[in-house]
Amino acid sequence: ATESQGEWFIGSIDQGTTSSRFIIFDSEAEPVASHQIEFDNHYPESGWHEHDPMDLVGSVEECIEKAMEQFISKGYSKSQIKAIGLTNQRETIVVWDKYTGEPLCNAVVWPDTRTSNIVRELKARPHSDKLLDMCGLPLSTYPSSVKLLWLIRNNEAVGQAYAEGRLAFGTVDTWLIYQLNGKEKNIHVTDSTNASRTMFMNLRTLKYDDELLDFFGIDPRKVALPKIVPSSCSEAYGTLGRGALAGVRIAGCLGDQSSALVGQCGFSAGQAKNTYGTGCFLLYNVGTKPVISQYGLLATIAYDFGPGTEPVYALEGSIAVAGSGVKFLMNNLGFERDSTRVTALAESVKDNGGVYFVTAFSGLFAPYWIDDAKGTLFGLTQHTNRGHIARATLEATCFQTRAILDAMAKDSGHSLESLAVDGGMSNSDLTMQTQADLTNIMVERPAMRETTALGAAIAAGLAIDDGGWNSLDEISSMMRKKKGRCTFEPQMDKKTVARMYTCWERAVEMSRGWVT
Ligand code: ADP
Repeated sequence: ATESQGEWFIGSIDQGTTSSRFIIFDSEAEPVASHQIEFDNHYPESGWHEHDPMDLVGSVEECIEKAMEQFISKGYSKSQIKAIGLTNQRETIVVWDKYTGEPLCNAVVWPDTRTSNIVRELKARPHSDKLLDMCGLPLSTYPSSVKLLWLIRNNEAVGQAYAEGRLAFGTVDTWLIYQLNGKEKNIHVTDSTNASRTMFMNLRTLKYDDELLDFFGIDPRKVALPKIVPSSCSEAYGTLGRGALAGVRIAGCLGDQSSALVGQCGFSAGQAKNTYGTGCFLLYNVGTKPVISQYGLLATIAYDFGPGTEPVYALEGSIAVAGSGVKFLMNNLGFERDSTRVTALAESVKDNGGVYFVTAFSGLFAPYWIDDAKGTLFGLTQHTNRGHIARATLEATCFQTRAILDAMAKDSGHSLESLAVDGGMSNSDLTMQTQADLTNIMVERPAMRETTALGAAIAAGLAIDDGGWNSLDEISSMMRKKKGRCTFEPQMDKKTVARMYTCWERAVEMSRGWVT
């Protein structure tokens, strides 16, 4: 990026599991206009989790329109928006007919567990133990590959399109870029952070790997896979095809957790962030060589900023249920109508009262990888009230983060001194204090919590010549000067922490293998 005439801005599309947002950042990385829309999550059968692919596109387009109205009403103009970044929920897949551009079925969303039988079958195949080293991910219900395989085998329309060679596959970034450009442009791309969640990409070459495709029985002549391009790139992603920002370039694309790491400026090896959204994801920057975990973590691309730079890798601890546990209390058990009040309920009791909630609605992810675990509530007595259950729900994410940090210390050989946090559930002071207590490290929360959206804006802002930022150093020093960071120091006595964590570990063991 070079010096731009006048004030410039970067737009950021943040397409998450529960909502879509569009945020316009100024050159100081401060949001000046934004809009957010929640859309429907569908759970048509136990273990299934779907989105309507057109809802994803429609909600993003509406957010852009509404945020632009605000932006214009503040006296700015469209020409000041120099580029757009995009960040998205990862692993979720969309499949469509490559000739008509019409989706063939609903999107299969990342925590969906309909694939558990396929996973069992694949684990029994020869060489299944080689996959982790090649693509960084263990076989589980989580990655895109098993979701695609399930649809090809079980959804008639998808199976037929595959047989006839007209199936197009994409993660949410790919689908949105294809649709937002206008399908007639036929732009079919993904960035390497999103591709690293499919199990089809080789972690070292950043290319699709025939051995991996073979393992899953996916024939690339029958399904169009998106071209893998760098996360920061001024050409490959095209321009918006319609609406208030028609003609503006998409210049950055990052999976949401990579984006949060970038937004928190975790640019050096040894830095980590934990994002408490629908799920919770801890990413630890390991530098320019991947580290394959021995202790249940994932290896993934942190970001890949293109020519002249090397891709940066991360170790990741993924937790399937975080904020969605809070939503479960609200939507399924009728606790309260907003998340802040669930936290207030948890604060109404002095401790968990002996209640432990293993929120294994999608089995348990890192570092346990127990596909057949089910959500299980332990320790109920006549003394138990809703406050204890709310508290146990918040604590579940903190215990899993502790387990992930223990695994990371073993894999990397050293422990973190502090943890940068963000995401909806990080707004809960109680949760952040509990996190500091249970891990015995300082938790740091920035004043501006839209770090996921900021990461994609940074990727876009680095790619362009007119406006934008020049280097990661420039961005880091700008962000270091920001005020309003909130820190949580560990306070709980060590004996209590040890006792609680032992109870949690026993609860995890007892949540296994519940078959109905
Ligand atoms: P995503 O990007 O995955 O859609 P967000 O980062 O927007 O998620 O976070 C939304 C989640 O955070 C919701 O599940 C919501 O219940 C939870 N959340 C938001 N505020 C709070 C709070 N104060 N206490 C607890 N949970 C919260």
